Amino acid sequence: MKWVTAELHTHTCASDGNFTFEELVQSAKAEDLDVIAITDHNTIHPATHIRKLEKKYNIDIIAGMEWTTFYGHLVILNLHSYIDWRTIGPSQFDVTDIKKSDAILGIAHPFRVGSPIATGCHWEYEVSDWNDIDYFEVWSNVNPNINAANKKAFKFWLDKLNTTKLTAVYGRDWHRPIPADKIVAKNYIGVIGDNMKSGVIDAIKAGRVVVSLAPLIEFTLFDNDHVVNIGEDYFTSNCIVNFKCVITQLNNIPSSLVIKSNLGPIHFANISQDSIIVSNISITSVKWIIAVIEQNTEMVAFTNPIFIRQKE
Ligand SMILES: [Zn+2]
Ligand SMILES: [Zn+2]
Repeated sequence: MKWVTAELHTHTCASDGNFTFEELVQSAKAEDLDVIAITDHNTIHPATHIRKLEKKYNIDIIAGMEWTTFYGHLVILNLHSYIDWRTIGPSQFDVTDIKKSDAILGIAHPFRVGSPIATGCHWEYEVSDWNDIDYFEVWSNVNPNINAANKKAFKFWLDKLNTTKLTAVYGRDWHRPIPADKIVAKNYIGVIGDNMKSGVIDAIKAGRVVVSLAPLIEFTLFDNDHVVNIGEDYFTSNCIVNFKCVITQLNNIPSSLVIKSNLGPIHFANISQDSIIVSNISITSVKWIIAVIEQNTEMVAFTNPIFIRQKE
């Protein structure tokens, strides 16, 4: 598995962004991103144009669209034909056709109010089956770790993990150059195989995503020879398990590693440089665990969960 960096939510002047598509790609290259998804509002870009920019800038570009309605925004990745949004009413949320294709979909900025109170930014649809939703933008926008709407989204997501698998991602919702006083995050995506674009889609579906301002947390659980990655299920009748956290790109900033679960925090360690932490933890009544890095009491990175399935 290889960790690649990706931005999954971007706009150009084909909708309401300030960038041309080429300027957006240049900006992504300047940040050393491996992959971006192009997700303009209710419009898609021609495949030939995408291929041309991929070749010119040596970057992978996932075709997508932000399906922008009055009652919520849904980012659709790996989308190759246009989806109409105009006929969708508040009780008509239906993704059957999208789910029949190879596309995946995620709820964008679910708790954002919009400025100055724009319709549709926050999610109002009733989701009858959360299995239809592949991912959730737990972090959105600039300064994502201290954004109040994102804190709500994080709590909502943790609660959802008790009943469903739902991958957390970051979506910058990139419309224009980032002001110098603002910070952004990135997704580290665990890609298996040589095809970058399908590898990213598969990894998002599988939950192999770490959301972070900088540090990469490689979080695994191991049981003798058996290694369980984030996104995976661990079936066990053990009460104590071993986990391993390889933490890099901390840049010598004093940090804490917290392992969180449905029961709350279950492990804590202070760290200040790139580290490997291996430990035993009790998992009695634990349904899922995530690894979190905090700096000055603010979360700066978190992993998707490992799911614990307790055998009787
Ligand atoms: Zn949006
Ligand atoms: Zn957007």
